[in-house]
Formats: sequence, structure tokens, C-alpha cells
Amino acid sequence: MIPYGKQDITQADIDSVVSVLKSSFLTQGPQVPAFENALIKATGADHALAVNSATSALHIACLALELGQGDILWTTPITFVASANCGLYCGASVDFVDIDPATYNLCPKALEQKLVHAKKEGVLPKVVVAVHLCGQPCDMKAIHALSIQYGFKIIEDASHAIGGRYLKQPIGSCVYSDITVFSFHPVKIVTTAEGGAALTNSKALADKMALYRSHGITRDEALMENASHGGWYYEQIDLGFNYRMTELQAALGVTQMSRLSEFVSARHQLAIRYNEKLAELPITLPYQLANTYSGLHLYVIRLNLNEITKTHKAVFDELRENGIGVNLHYIPVHLQPYYQRMGFKHGDFPNAESYYSNAISLPMFHSMTHEQQDEVISKLTLILDA
Ligand SMILES: *Cc1c(COP(=O)(O)O)cnc(C)c1O
Repeated sequence: MIPYGKQDITQADIDSVVSVLKSSFLTQGPQVPAFENALIKATGADHALAVNSATSALHIACLALELGQGDILWTTPITFVASANCGLYCGASVDFVDIDPATYNLCPKALEQKLVHAKKEGVLPKVVVAVHLCGQPCDMKAIHALSIQYGFKIIEDASHAIGGRYLKQPIGSCVYSDITVFSFHPVKIVTTAEGGAALTNSKALADKMALYRSHGITRDEALMENASHGGWYYEQIDLGFNYRMTELQAALGVTQMSRLSEFVSARHQLAIRYNEKLAELPITLPYQLANTYSGLHLYVIRLNLNEITKTHKAVFDELRENGIGVNLHYIPVHLQPYYQRMGFKHGDFPNAESYYSNAISLPMFHSMTHEQQDEVISKLTLILDA
């Protein structure tokens, strides 16, 4: 089976992890700051906090933005559940904004309409999570302008988008947001096995997230309430978690980050080949927003179901039966049973539901060979022709 995504591990990656195993620190040593510096260097953000997953990064980002009971978080329904769940972790409620039918990202026009209505009702969001689906940046300028007008904070869920650019700025620069989150799960662009990071240009937000990452404990006397008792002394000044990344993971992250531009440009080469060789099929190819460079975590096609005799499910199943490890990103979050129990239902976000009715993620990963890609293309062509 050709998977839809997978990691690419070199001997350099292996050597760096093994050297950490032989060193004094398996956690809380020099590798985590080195990885954070690599993220800062790649993005231009002022601060980076490496954590054990993007889910944890989203949680501490929401906490740092003081999202809590009575507050509201908005995100897109076409995302992994974690982009919404982070609001629930904080006791806030969650709502969704429908997607743009061309980019599949949260639609700034739908956002504006919902904000106008929410203002009248007194239910404005405190945080909006903008997800760069497939690696294609959201229209951040428009979302940022609305955040000033309506007073909400922005988290970019850039789990798909490391190595991409928006208006020449690297994703993660936080020029148009308060915090940007990355995921380093093995299917993503860069991996640390499990792992994530939160980036920001605000020292205050970075300090808060550092506390939440590690139990709410500080050894910084400037932050303590009492005078230090001695060299052993630390204070818990807030309620935090253990969301720390290990040294093994961070060391892998450092060597992986050295290949970031290689990873993303290889994905672009594959996308160009897909675009050329799939152009005649009864499908809609990915749309590229002007002035952006996608991280290209995913290559999503949509079946033009009115031009083919097979169903979405039949095409998907036949691809899998033929060894093509396609996937579907994502089931609209509002249709998950847990969210339906909150009152969300079919019909709430028509563009998201229409996307779900015909989208398929084709295999896309750094080490994919042209032979593998041609196999995907010929199987898809055959299945759609029959
Ligand atoms: C993968 C992913 C996450 C969660 O990442 P983890 O590191 O597995 O916690 C969150 N949001 C999006 C959009 C993702 O793709």
C-alpha cells in the first residue's frame, strides 16, 4: 500500500537520537532549546515552545489567551478535531465558520457575516483558530483585519503548513496572529515522532505558555510570590500540565528541520506532476491562493460526481483495494457524535459538508518516487474511466 503520508528518516536523524540516548539528558537538556531555535530561525517568530503534541500546543495557546468558561472559540469544520477540542478543554464553547469552496479554508466572508450577527446577539468569539488546510495559508490579512474590528485573538493551526509562506512571510512568523501551532506527527511535513510547538512574538504569551507546559512551576525569582528558600526552591504559581517534549524528540526535530525546504520543495515537485497528469480527469484539482506558498502536507482532489458513474465511496474503496492508501481529511467536526450532542447537525455548514461528500487525499510524502506517483495516477485514471 502506498500510504497517504509518511516520515523520511535519514542516518543523520538516527545518529542524533542515538547520541542523545548516550548523553546526560533524556529530557530538559539542550536539545529542546536547540529545536526551538531552529523553529525561530525558520519562521522569524520571537519565541517558540516545543511541546509533546500540537494538541497540547493548542491547549496552552488557548490558556495563554485566557480562554475560559463563558468564552467562545470559532474554527473551521474541516480540520482535525484537536483544533476545536482545545476550546472545550478550557471550558469555553465552540462554534464553526463554514469553508471557502475554492480554498477549503475558513471563509473570511462567512466569518464576517457570522461576526456581524454574533455582535448583535452578544456572542462574539474570544479566539478564532485559523487552520491552513493541506498547507495552504488562510486569508490571514482578512482574518486579522476582522480580529481588530471585533476584538478576538487568532491562533493559526499550522499543523499542515510548516515551510510554507503567506505574502512572503514564513508560516509561523505570527505577523497576522497571536500564536501559531505546528504538529510534528510522522504524517506531517517535519516529524519528532509525537510533538508540537507554539510560536509567538509576545514575551508575555510565551512566558505563560512555558508555565502551562510544565505544571505552572517557575524557578524565575521575578515571577515568585515569596522570597526563595534556597537553591532547591521553585513555586507553582498557576495550574499547568506536563506537556514537555523529550530530548530524543527534539534532537530528531533539529536534524529534520535542517531539511525543511527540501521537504517542501519535493512536495511541490510532486504536486506539479499531479496537476499535469490529472488535469483531464473528472476531478477538481487543488486551488492555489495567490501570493502564498503551500507547505503541501496534503494533496486533496474532489470528484466531479456529476461526470462519473461511481460514488465517492466506491472510488475511495477501489483505490484502497488497488494499493493506493488514500484518506479523507476531514470528517466535518460538527458532525462528530460528540459535537452533534452539543446541538450541531447536518446542514449547518453546507460548504464543509459538500467538500466531505467528494474529497479524497492522494498520497503525498517527501520520499515518494515517480514510480509510486505514476501508480497512483494510473490507478485513479483507470478507476474513474471505468
Ligand atoms: C495533526 C493535527 C493536529 C494534532 O496534532 P498532534 O501533534 O497529533 O496533536 C491538530 N490540528 C491539525 C490541523 C492537524 O492536522
